[in-house]
Amino acid sequence: MPKLMVAELPLIVEISESARKVAGNVLKELEVSSAVLLTGRKSYELVGAKIEERISDFISSRFFIEKSGMEEVRRIEMGITYTDIDCVVGIGGGKVLDVAKVLASEMNIALINIPTVASHDGIASPVASFKENGKPVSISTKPPTAVLADLVILRHSPVRLLRSGFGDLISNITAVKDWKLAKEKKNEVFNEVAASMAVMPANLMLSSEGLNLKENVEMLVRGLILSGVAIAIAGSSRPASGAEHKFSHALDYLGYGNGTHGEQVGIGTIIMEYLHEKQYGVGDWEKVRQSLEKIQAPTMAKEIGLTREEVIEALMYAKNIRKKRYTILEDANPDREEFEVILSKTGVA
Ligand SMILES: [Zn+2]
Repeated sequence: MPKLMVAELPLIVEISESARKVAGNVLKELEVSSAVLLTGRKSYELVGAKIEERISDFISSRFFIEKSGMEEVRRIEMGITYTDIDCVVGIGGGKVLDVAKVLASEMNIALINIPTVASHDGIASPVASFKENGKPVSISTKPPTAVLADLVILRHSPVRLLRSGFGDLISNITAVKDWKLAKEKKNEVFNEVAASMAVMPANLMLSSEGLNLKENVEMLVRGLILSGVAIAIAGSSRPASGAEHKFSHALDYLGYGNGTHGEQVGIGTIIMEYLHEKQYGVGDWEKVRQSLEKIQAPTMAKEIGLTREEVIEALMYAKNIRKKRYTILEDANPDREEFEVILSKTGVA
């Protein structure tokens, strides 16, 4: 029997100026009878309380998410024992939506995500990023059943987080190049649909004139949602995670700097695009850097509290992360001296 691949995708995606107002309709459409609301204290104050008011008939309990991790998932599971919950509604940032994803997957019930920030592609992806014992771990989940991306809410989110979302989106450019490389060199399965979904919005934003995140928030969040769906279609994070993510994971493992995920992968994208360009003549690392500069995202290591030595250490360490995921780092295999040159040439450190 040939292997049959079935990808689970979000059923409902709304990106609009009033997406926050349609949660009630979505709950009805999904025939939900009793939902648990997960939110953050700040998100609740800013938008969650108003949304909850509109859907109060459906909400049987509410929990404030304090941290990300399995312990938090267990706490909520204990809190809702013996109630007939058939839906999770998540209103908040990464922490809240990650806990919501794992909870809904474990309970095998619907999930409605209402993001209050657009700082990475986890909004719609079937992956949760947890920290266990201080170390980052990725957990596979089901994708959210519905994603309601409200542009008014997102436009008012902190600009640093919008910049981070841009970094995570353009990282798809090097991630997909790495994936193609793995297909050519290691015969890895490659999915053209997933690759295009991930890379096209990234290129669109990279090339748009007069790039302004507050004005282009719709383009940004659409790109991040498509990234998440691309991950679901590919059945792995390949379309949105290559060498630039290995670099970011290395920083997380080593505990270096104070950058957000998107800031770290943004800088990683400059470095890996440089490597691709040098090795294969395809790419434009200067364009990547300029786009980050245009939106005032960090392009230099020191802007996210990293020394040159720490960046080099992280790059060396990155080669040991997920060795099976073939990327430009394994392909070009630069040594310490070569990294020194790259950091000088790109102006990263
Ligand atoms: Zn990412």
